[in-house]
Amino acid sequence: MSNHDQVWDACLKVIKDNIPLQAFKTWFDPIVPVRLENNILTIQVPSHFFYEWLEENYIVLLKKVIKKELGSEGTLEYSIVMENNSTKSTPYTVKLPALRSNSLKNTPLNVPIQATENQIRNPFIIPGLKKVNIESNLNHSWNFENFVEGDCNRLARASGYAVANKPGGTAFNPLLIYGGVGLGKSHLANAIGIEIKEQFPTKTVLYVQSEKFAHQFIDAIKNQTTNDFIHFYQMVDVLIIDDVQFFSGKEKTQDVFFSIFNHLHQNGKQIILTSDKAPVEMQGMEQRLLSRFKWGLSADLTTPDLETRIAILEKKMYLNGIELPKDVVEYLAYSINTNMREMEGAFNTLLAQASLNKKAITMELARLMVDKFVKNTAREVSIEYIQKVVCDYFDLPIEMLKSKTRKREVVQARQISMYFSKKMTKSSLANIGAHCGGKDHATVLHACRTVVNLSETDKQFRLYLEELEKKLSIQ
Ligand code: ADP
Ligand code: MG
Repeated sequence: MSNHDQVWDACLKVIKDNIPLQAFKTWFDPIVPVRLENNILTIQVPSHFFYEWLEENYIVLLKKVIKKELGSEGTLEYSIVMENNSTKSTPYTVKLPALRSNSLKNTPLNVPIQATENQIRNPFIIPGLKKVNIESNLNHSWNFENFVEGDCNRLARASGYAVANKPGGTAFNPLLIYGGVGLGKSHLANAIGIEIKEQFPTKTVLYVQSEKFAHQFIDAIKNQTTNDFIHFYQMVDVLIIDDVQFFSGKEKTQDVFFSIFNHLHQNGKQIILTSDKAPVEMQGMEQRLLSRFKWGLSADLTTPDLETRIAILEKKMYLNGIELPKDVVEYLAYSINTNMREMEGAFNTLLAQASLNKKAITMELARLMVDKFVKNTAREVSIEYIQKVVCDYFDLPIEMLKSKTRKREVVQARQISMYFSKKMTKSSLANIGAHCGGKDHATVLHACRTVVNLSETDKQFRLYLEELEKKLSIQ
């Protein structure tokens, strides 16, 4: 066995342990190691698309294994076989480690790729075209079990579940899940796909990012394989397109998607879409497409409330088999309240920092990480956080604050919360009132005045305020 074979074999062993078998067969089996010179391992891949796919999806893993086998100076080069039937297959190489965009800059993009097979060319380049061979591209950690239910996602989750139980057989076709960044659209869309695969193993499920879809389409135009492209997508039973808002303003892509959509819909196939906007707000989208989006169900994901955020973190800890101090978890959930990806990011960094530096995970470290994470978005304390700190301080359950009770100490805590909410957040009086048991803006205003007056006359009260203010500002 020659040296490059040995090295590549060792790499494959690690890779195999780290990705699903099907993915391994699809993307790594066809690779042929060609040479190893000056610590540069050259591998031959069947197509440009193949190379892009590897770079996009497995770059981290590849870098790791190369480093492991060849040391930090080790480099990977691709040699790409032309897909046309011309005899002079001029392989060209792309160097690794290099950022993808950089490496592509030096790469001729107009590689002549022509379909040689008489069969439809699968834009995912999966050899053979038996239906079962279409890899679903689902992210298996994003399943229903890991998706925490809350008021913010109840409708979307329930309808997703209904669709998964009867793909194509409910009124929810298409199912459009929409909501802001990091609220779980992709997670839920994947969960539906996974559930369908589990219940109906013979159904072909295909998950694709709309960006990838659009690129494949452009490639297909270039290669004059648009018919194949359309036919390929028309073969699936469940099509999941993530972030369709990306199609905005791209007329041709919308046209091709329109015909795929119609075909699938007419044949009782399930379509699942996600978008960062509600259909009515999608600009640059053709009317006929928008009207089809509205045929089924549009379900939105909103910002998770505090309990759901804590539950998401707890789920994550459980999955990672670790436990964090309760105050740290609450702190993370309090401080990052709009984007769950950011919250997870802070959580992961915290874990990494703690294990790298062998430090205990303390509030101090948590604060540092959150500061690092949210540093660019001027952070303000939330009304929820203020309420929590005030209630802790006076030893009251937070529900009391939100209730109608007129007990003196509760009224006082409520007024103080309103006062700090006015002072430290940008929330409107009405919004603050809504958070404190449905009071109107006049009540909030009155509360703020009362607090100011009291602090001027009552020394003890002033002390409370000062202490609370200190607690709130070291957040
Ligand atoms: P989007 O596609 O809406 O931008 P993602 O689906 O990528 O958001 O979600 C961002 C991260 O937050 C993911 O890691 C996801 O697992 C996590 N997440 C979001 N909502 C939930 C939830 N309800 N339960 C568990 N994890 C969630
Ligand atoms: Mg997403």
